[in-house]
Order: sequence, then structure tokens, then C-alpha cells
Amino acid sequence: MSDYKDKTISEMIKLKASELGFDLCGITPSRPLKEREKILSDWCSSGMNAGMSYLSRDIYKRLDPQFLVPDAKSLIVTGLSYYSDKMQTEPGVPVISRYAYGSGYQDVIKKKLYKLLAFIKSIRPETEGRPFSDSAPLLEKAWACEAGLGWQGKHSIVINKKIGSFFFIGALVINIELDYNEPQKMEFCGNCRICIEQCPTGAINDDRTIDARKCIANLTIEDRGPIPEDIIPKIGRRIYGCDKCQEVCPWNRDAKSHKTPEFDLSDELQKMSAHQWLNLTREQFDRLFKDTPVERRKYEPFMQNISAVIKTKP
Ligand code: SF4
Ligand code: SF4
Repeated sequence: MSDYKDKTISEMIKLKASELGFDLCGITPSRPLKEREKILSDWCSSGMNAGMSYLSRDIYKRLDPQFLVPDAKSLIVTGLSYYSDKMQTEPGVPVISRYAYGSGYQDVIKKKLYKLLAFIKSIRPETEGRPFSDSAPLLEKAWACEAGLGWQGKHSIVINKKIGSFFFIGALVINIELDYNEPQKMEFCGNCRICIEQCPTGAINDDRTIDARKCIANLTIEDRGPIPEDIIPKIGRRIYGCDKCQEVCPWNRDAKSHKTPEFDLSDELQKMSAHQWLNLTREQFDRLFKDTPVERRKYEPFMQNISAVIKTKP
């Protein structure tokens, strides 16, 4: 506890977040993000939210954390790296996105945020709050920028100058006031357009939004239907998610492997052959992907993705 001596509560929270394994932590006041309303509603009205119609409902609720935590005063926003050097090794296999390699990130992050909340309560017992990680209508990317974690790159993902963009965002919304970080005002993409030019399906718009109707990540994860015929030739071997726009980004050139064992790719998945992927049984799917993001896709749609990418490639 000596490291906590003479520190403010906000400094102690950031130190505790680091001890819990978070790579990034910033704090920002809760407020309605009115300035985001037009971008979000224009994006939905243009149809670029694809099948995610829930995004267009009650947009005002997505902008204001008070709808999730009625006495919200502050958001403690965290970043947890999931970048991994350990990747699938066999040639020609279907590829899954790095973020889905290991256990469900939402649970991992929420457990850490609950520990952070308990720590804050030990100092300020009146504290109440709720942790979020991709689990409620909260504009997490926007809050990460508000808390100074980084800027939204042209691919719309938040980039941090030190660790790049392969990180999960978590947020703890609490009812006490703290010292706040400066929002990230500057962006450091400059004249670069690499992600826009190299996106296999041309899904990245010029205004830092994504056309989900074309985005491989959406089509292989969220979308319930088969992958559209015109997209299949462009999809490569991606069957669950797509890392291309992050892989080509110069800010990820020096990305370091994460330190969260739960996010590791298993040896079995790493070494699976194309034949094994194509003949994956329901039992194997249930065992290999239990408690991982892939589990959400369900067996049949997942196998449709595998057939689409394997059968169309030499
Ligand atoms: S995830 Fe893939 S398809 Fe989607 S915008 Fe990035 S590069 Fe394009
Ligand atoms: S690839 Fe270039 S334009 Fe795209 S997010 Fe990275 S720095 Fe920005």
C-alpha cells in the first residue's frame, strides 16, 4: 500500500487499474455526448448500420450515461491489450480475429472493473457504479477519447500512441466526482490513408465511419445471414472478424503481446489444419469456443463462414 501514499484518489485508481493489468486508464466527467448525435443518426439513416437496427433506437440514451447509472458523475475508462504474436500457423486455414482468440473479454474486463469498484469503495464507501464492456448502449470509443486514451483513427478504432489500437475498452461509471484527464483533441493519422486503401471491401468511409454492410467484421460476426456473394471473393480466409485495417496501421507496427493469459490462443486452435476446420463437429465447436466470442456466432452460421472461404479458394 506504500505506493499509494500521498496520492489523490484519482491517482490511486489509476495505479490500481495498472495493478489489475489494464494497459490504459483515464477519467472523464459524465455528460451527454450531444456532439455525437448527428454523426450517429446520419450513419444509421444512411443504412450503414446494416442489420444492427438497435443502434438507431433511442439514440439519446446511447449518448448519456445517466440512462445507465442515474447518478453518474464520472467514467473511469480503461484499455486492455489483446494483441498477440501467437497466431494460427497452418497454411490456408480459415482465420479468426485476434480479439476472439481467448475467453470472453467482456467477463474478463468486468471482473477487473468490479475489483476496481471495490477498491474505490474501500476509500469512498458511498461510491456506487456499474462496469461496462461492449455490454450496454454506451459510446465506448467516444468515452475513450474523452478520457484521453487516444483518438479515433480513420478506421474508427481508437489508437493510443504507446500501445496502438489492439485493445479492448472498458468503462466504470460511478457516482462520485474525481480529477479528470484532458480529452484527446489531436489526431495523429495525418495524411495517412493506408487503412482506407487496404480495406478488402472498401468499407471505410472518409469521415471515420464504417459501412457495416461491407465490413467483414460485421458480416462474419453480427450479421445472421450468409456472407453476400460479391463479398466472398474479397474476404480472404477470414471467418470471424477482420484485423486488416489494424494490421496495416503504422501505429501498430511496434505492438507488444498482451499480458492477459485468458486471451491466449490455445495450442489446439493454433495448429488446426484446413481439413480439421472444414470438418469441425458441433461437439468440437462447443468445446473449442466455450466462453469465447466465437460461441455467439453459433455452430451453423460459423460453418457457413468456413465453407464460404475454403470452398472458394484454391
Ligand atoms: S475490419 Fe476489415 S472489412 Fe472492416 S473496415 Fe477494417 S479492414 Fe475493412
Ligand atoms: S492506417 Fe493510417 S489512416 Fe488508418 S488509422 Fe492508421 S494512421 Fe490512421
